[in-house]
Amino acid sequence: MARVVPPARPRKLAKVPFVELADGRLQGVVSSGSDIERVYVSSVAAGTYAFACSTNNNRPCGGARGWFCNHIRALITEAVLQYGAERVTRYLRVDLGDEQPTAHTIADAMTATGPSEASSTAAASVFSRFLRHLAYLELAPSTLPVPEMQWFPPTRAVA
Ligand SMILES: [Zn+2]
Repeated sequence: MARVVPPARPRKLAKVPFVELADGRLQGVVSSGSDIERVYVSSVAAGTYAFACSTNNNRPCGGARGWFCNHIRALITEAVLQYGAERVTRYLRVDLGDEQPTAHTIADAMTATGPSEASSTAAASVFSRFLRHLAYLELAPSTLPVPEMQWFPPTRAVA
C-alpha cells in the first residue's frame, strides 16, 4: 500500500486528476484542455529528468518533442501543491543552486540540463494506477477511512 500524504495545498483536480512521486518518477495524468475524452500520461524521471508524455491511447504528445510540454509543466505545478516544492526538489534530485524552490524554478532547472525523452513504457502502469484510484469513487459509502481518498482534498478545490 502506497503511503498517502495529505496535500500541502488543495489542488485543482479537474486539470491534473492524478499526480504522484513513485517508481523514481514524478508521474501523473493531465486533462486535455480541448477534449474531455482525452488525458495525457506524463512523467519526469528523478536524477536524469528524462520525460515522457502520451495520450491514454498511447499516442505521443505533440508538445513533448525535445522539450517539456504544457502537460509536464502542469504536472510539476500540481506536484508542488500536492507535496510541497522542497519535497519535489529532493525527490527529483534537482539542483536549484541559490534559487527558491517553486514549480517554475524546478522546471527551469530540469530543462536547463537538456533532458532526453524517455520511452513511454511507463505510461500504461501510470494510467492503470490512476484507474485504480478512480475506482475508489465507486465504493459504497462507508464511515471507515479510505486512505486513497486523501487524494481528494476536503476543501472545495475542483475548478
Ligand atoms: Zn504533453
